[in-house]
Amino acid sequence: MSKRPSDSKGFETRAIHSGRDFVGDTGAVTPPIWLTSTFEYGNPNGFDYTRSGNPNFRLLDRTVASLEGAAHATSFGSGVSAITAIVSTLKSGDVVLAEENIYGCTFRLFSQVFAKFGVEVRYVDFTDPASLEGVANHAPALVWIESPTNPNLKIIDIAAVADVSHAADASLVVDNTFASSYLQRPVELGADLSLISLTKYSNGHSDALVGSVCTNSDEWHEKMTFAQKALGLQPSPMDCWLTLRGAKTEAIRMERHSSNALAFATFLEHETDAVTVRYPFLPSHPQYELAKRQMAAGSGIVTVDFGRSLEDTIKMVGALSLFPRAESLGGIESLVCHPASMTHAAIPKETREAVGITDSLVRFSVGIETVEDLIDDVRDALQA
Ligand SMILES: *Cc1c(COP(=O)(O)O)cnc(C)c1O
Repeated sequence: MSKRPSDSKGFETRAIHSGRDFVGDTGAVTPPIWLTSTFEYGNPNGFDYTRSGNPNFRLLDRTVASLEGAAHATSFGSGVSAITAIVSTLKSGDVVLAEENIYGCTFRLFSQVFAKFGVEVRYVDFTDPASLEGVANHAPALVWIESPTNPNLKIIDIAAVADVSHAADASLVVDNTFASSYLQRPVELGADLSLISLTKYSNGHSDALVGSVCTNSDEWHEKMTFAQKALGLQPSPMDCWLTLRGAKTEAIRMERHSSNALAFATFLEHETDAVTVRYPFLPSHPQYELAKRQMAAGSGIVTVDFGRSLEDTIKMVGALSLFPRAESLGGIESLVCHPASMTHAAIPKETREAVGITDSLVRFSVGIETVEDLIDDVRDALQA
């Protein structure tokens, strides 16, 4: 505890030093992994059983809370477990007012799991001012947004949505996964809960799954630690250790992800025949000014519509050599996702297109490789 830096230190310093703790008198600079299911009764740190707490969770929670500028963080086995923890606090009849371009697994949890328990979710477009004005009419228990959204990269005004949510007595949840704590801090902007899939940018190396919920509210924090143990949503000590190691380099990785993605998006917009290129820090983005106010940089995701047929788009994506086709994002390695043939293949074409997922839409997760190589790879694949 004595080595925990005060929050007046910089992001990079807190990322590296907040997790130095619990090493006892061993002098270990890097904490061990506490692979134990249970703890001896009466230990001074208050641990009892790993489902409700473990030193590796605590080190990660302190770091994530500090980086998000929040009083508390609670870690879970994945981002989806973190979502489950939040929604599990609702009761039958409660309404969630959600952004319509929400992450697919969040939508699936709402529609195929929590709907059965009587939680009603209504969807609106939060870039439309009328949606903000109408929040109170729904009397929601929770308002649920993400920014940037997946895969359309819409930017939603977190502070404005926080104001209207609070005026309607609702708590605001922001899924901060696409932005990362380094680039955007929803709790500082007024959100009650910031939810992060640490699997993505915080870990950054595609080798573990962890989720986290950050808040300034003692009451919400209590609900989250209760959900962790009561629903069995805890992460593994090993995954927390890997994620804490990843978080130490989050700042420099996010700088490179963002500068690479901006160069990559600029290339696509100006030097290819792409129909649309979506990137929050391109001046052509519909919410460019808001993105610059709310985020420190644009993060690593670029969504492109090449305007080609389904077959040609699949061929082009398959011709890339530095972008493996894979779900997920936020790792140091670049990845490409073609929603129409991968994540959204089971959804009928008309339904997909209604939410902007055309046959020719491609989502790049731009890694931290040499950006000229990434650009050359796409140039070659477009010509193949
Ligand atoms: C990946 C992701 C999640 C879910 O996280 P997991 O760790 O994969 O369970 C939630 N929200 C967003 C925006 C994501 O990208």
